[in-house]
Amino acid sequence: MSVYEAVIGLELHVELATATKLFCSCPNEFGAEPNTNVCPVCLGLPGSLPVLNARAVELALRLAEALDFDVPDRSIFARKNYFYPDMPKDFQISQYESPILSDGRLEVDGATVGIERAHLEEDTGKTVHMGGGGRIHDAEHSLVDYNRAGVPLMEIVSRPDIRSAEQARAYVTELRGVLKAIGLSDVKMEEGSMRVDANVSVREAGAAEFGTKVEIKNMNSLRSLGRAIEHEIERQSAMLDAGERIIQETRHWNEDDGTTHGMRTKEGSSDYRYFPEPDLTPVAPTDEQRAAVRGALPELPAQQRSRLVALGVPEAAARTIVEAELTTYTTSATVSTATTADVANWVQGEVLARVNAEDADPEEKLPAARLGELVDLVAEGTISRAQAKEVFDQVWGTSKVPREVVKDQGLAQVSDEGELAKVIDDIITANPKESDAYRAGDDKARGKLQGFFIGQAMKATGGKANGQLLKKLLDDRLG
Ligand code: ADP
Ligand code: ZN
Ligand code: MG
Repeated sequence: MSVYEAVIGLELHVELATATKLFCSCPNEFGAEPNTNVCPVCLGLPGSLPVLNARAVELALRLAEALDFDVPDRSIFARKNYFYPDMPKDFQISQYESPILSDGRLEVDGATVGIERAHLEEDTGKTVHMGGGGRIHDAEHSLVDYNRAGVPLMEIVSRPDIRSAEQARAYVTELRGVLKAIGLSDVKMEEGSMRVDANVSVREAGAAEFGTKVEIKNMNSLRSLGRAIEHEIERQSAMLDAGERIIQETRHWNEDDGTTHGMRTKEGSSDYRYFPEPDLTPVAPTDEQRAAVRGALPELPAQQRSRLVALGVPEAAARTIVEAELTTYTTSATVSTATTADVANWVQGEVLARVNAEDADPEEKLPAARLGELVDLVAEGTISRAQAKEVFDQVWGTSKVPREVVKDQGLAQVSDEGELAKVIDDIITANPKESDAYRAGDDKARGKLQGFFIGQAMKATGGKANGQLLKKLLDDRLG
């Protein structure tokens, strides 16, 4: 059996976060009553003419800055002709030979993935097949909803630079973060505003040529993207081992049985009879437009991560926080005794858990300034980490202020050195055997006895003693 290497290229379709459709002024919204967001343009009625949405071009220019794309002086729209009721015009306006963006790249965990092109196109309508298990062949009749027809899409086509399912997921995660950060799309894979098709081939390790690729569709989560690619790599490797040939085809991922199965042999581009769209002028972004976009580009995920790491936040925490879009929240929590790393620790723990569970905006539930105050209370030794968790539960989602909760409930730790010294001294006097053992013991014995002394001191103070200070006092006396 040979050793195979996978070669993967991904095609992403994302719906643009514009207010209106790509060529008309119908609202671009999800979930409206069927066929209410329609007009003569997106229904393709005779005599109507498309007008390009300027905002869509602006979003494409932002993507150009973010992913280092070339922006040709002119790009053109093309008609992709096909007959299917989801597109009432019998063609889809897309870009073919001349996309708005070409030759970009994205850094993914230290490797560069090339991006061949990104182009604008309109989405199609949605057909629903009634009866026969929802499949067109056995359906009694079909319903069509044109609300999505004409919604702006951007197709982003990577080069075949990806080598594993894990890297494919990392690429999509990073790209999705970029798209979200620049406001291009809300990129919800589960809701269909981001769809990913994977092109997969395998070749013998070290071979110069690529193998025949198979395109896999219908993955609706990052997890299924990874599973589908893994499965396809195995399927193709087994075929090659058995001396079979891979045929170029489109395969459908089946989430339930975890396999792919053939759908149809892919249409060649000649089947679509592409030709330049005569009703639209070329897209020709000006230098002014590009400069304006460059000047207003938000901070990208990679930059956010570096900024957090420079503030002392561990790499893994920075990754989690940026992905959860909590960078600003984290850095706007001002602290005096605590550090940003302390804040980050709370954000990736308690805050993120709440945000996920409640689908909440943390700034509304616990303004960053108040989180900072809570973290400071721990850092300055006023309360323990365990007490702070209780306070967190009390202030989250209320207008309570951490410092006041601590005061009102008498939660503050005893950090008075004189007071605690007396407590420790009394315990030492009352337990001569343990004290001698501590003096004579090695690190391990001391570790155990330390628990005993601290426990006694906590008991004496109702659990309020500052643990750090107790350890220091014990060491002063018996160390
Ligand atoms: P098509 O003509 O089928 O559209 P393209 O060459 O335009 O094919 O590539 C489409 C996608 O497939 C791109 O993402 C590209 O990176 C990827 N791709 C191309 N060749 C291969 C290959 N041999 N193995 C895996 N992916 C590939
Ligand atoms: Zn319309
Ligand atoms: Mg192609």
